[in-house]
Amino acid sequence: MTKEEISGIMIYYYYVCKKKLWYYLHEIRMEAGNENVELGKLLDTSSYDRDNKHIMINGVINIDFLRGNHVLHEIKKSKSIEEASIMQVKYYLYYLHQREVTNISAKIDYPLLKQSITVELNDEDFPIIENVLTDILDYAASEQTPPKEETAICKKCAYHDLCYI
Ligand code: SF4
Repeated sequence: MTKEEISGIMIYYYYVCKKKLWYYLHEIRMEAGNENVELGKLLDTSSYDRDNKHIMINGVINIDFLRGNHVLHEIKKSKSIEEASIMQVKYYLYYLHQREVTNISAKIDYPLLKQSITVELNDEDFPIIENVLTDILDYAASEQTPPKEETAICKKCAYHDLCYI
């Protein structure tokens, strides 16, 4: 895998749980049929109908929708893992910035909460994101599964059975 192939969901999983990231990087997929994943998809298909949805860039960046061509939006169902969501969206801005697209802003929308937050890419984010990209490449190359991170999200995680049974 190369740095250019790192997707937004990989950044999200990096901040959620390194073991989840490792499973995903090694193509162990358990999301189909998981009720939280299904809820996310339902929200995605039922929200913001008038906007241009699912813009895929270079096969790695999947923007939920664009409003007015200059505001990208990511839809999340809850704020429970907000840092991961923010870093995913900062990565979208970083990815676009690396390709000289800088006249764009970003929001995370929580339709169930009727809230949204603005996400900005700051100078200090660049080295952080570059370190994360290097780490993700290391996880992709490693045959060693990271230890599980036992947190409240495990109960709802699509990989729960792999970690706990
Ligand atoms: S069940 Fe917990 S430890 Fe296992 S992948 Fe999911 S979040 Fe990580």
